[in-house]
Amino acid sequence: MSDVIAFKHGPFSAISMGLPGDHAGKSAVRIFLVEGSDKTALIDSGIHVGYGQLKQAFEGLGKQVSDLDYLLLTHEHMDHVGNNAALKRDSDCTIFAHPARADRIADNMLNAKTIVHAFPEGEHFDLAEEYLDWMGPDAVPVERFYKEGDTIDLGGVTLEVVEVMGHSMGEVGFFDPASKTLIIADPLLPAFNPVLYLYEDAHVMRATFQKIIDFIRERGVETVMFAHEDPCGPEEAIAKAEDCRARVDAIEASLRRRIKASPGIGFAELRDQICDEFEKVREWRALVSIDASLRDFERRGLIRRQGDGWADAG
Ligand SMILES: [Zn+2]
Repeated sequence: MSDVIAFKHGPFSAISMGLPGDHAGKSAVRIFLVEGSDKTALIDSGIHVGYGQLKQAFEGLGKQVSDLDYLLLTHEHMDHVGNNAALKRDSDCTIFAHPARADRIADNMLNAKTIVHAFPEGEHFDLAEEYLDWMGPDAVPVERFYKEGDTIDLGGVTLEVVEVMGHSMGEVGFFDPASKTLIIADPLLPAFNPVLYLYEDAHVMRATFQKIIDFIRERGVETVMFAHEDPCGPEEAIAKAEDCRARVDAIEASLRRRIKASPGIGFAELRDQICDEFEKVREWRALVSIDASLRDFERRGLIRRQGDGWADAG
C-alpha cells in the first residue's frame, strides 16, 4: 500500500494531504477513493498542491487517475475542491454536488469572495494566499446534483446522500449501508483545529449535530470517517457531536457576555476577543461564524445596533 493512503476501510481508501499556513503540521484534509465493481468514485478532490499525492494514491491501488468515473463533492470549501479541474481534465469524471453551492464550485473567485471578503473586516485578507491558492487556477461546473436520500450506485457499493448543513449550507455526507460507514467531511470539526468553529447558521449546525447522533443510532453506523481527523466508532462519534455542540454554544455564550459587558462593541473587536479566548488564529473563518451569530441574535431581538457595534437588548 502506498504511504499516501492513510487507511483502508471496506470499499474506501483515505488519501491524506497536509494543509499549509496556520494548519501546517497540525491538520490535513482527507479525501476518499471508493471502488465499486462498475464505477470508481472519489469523495472530494482535496487541496491543489496535493494532486501529486492523489495520483500516487491511485497508482498505489493499481489504478490511474484516468480510471475515475465520479467526483462526489461534500461541500464547496477550498480544501475539498482544489483538484476538480485537474481531475476533470485527466479523467473526464462526472462531478456531483449539492445544488446549493454549485455556483461557488464553478467559480473560484466567487467562492473565495463570498467567504473571505463577505465582510469589511475580511477585506485585508489576501484572497490568493488565504483561499485561491488552495484551489488552483481553474474551476469546472457541477454536472449532476444530489440531495438528501439520493443514492449513487457504483456497482456492489451504493452510497446514500445525507445532508449535513450548517458548516456549509450546501454540505452532504455519504452512508454505505453495506459496511455501515458514514463519511462526513466537516460538520464535526476537531477541537485541535487551529481556527474557530466555522458555522454559517448555528441553529442549522445544532440540528445537524442531532441529526448525526440520531442517524448513527437509527442506522446502526459502525464507523464514521471525517475529512480532518481519524475515523472512529459510533459512541466516540456521538461524543464528538456533543462536544461540537458545546463548542458552538460556548462561542455564542461568550458573544452574548461580551456584548453585555461592552455596549457598542464592534464586529472586529468581538471576533478578535473570541479568537483569543478560544486560542484560535485570528483569521477569516471566524468572521463567518461571528457574523452568523450576530445576525441571528439581532433577528431574535437579543441584541441591537449601537453606533458601529452591538448592545444587549435581552
Ligand atoms: Zn469545510
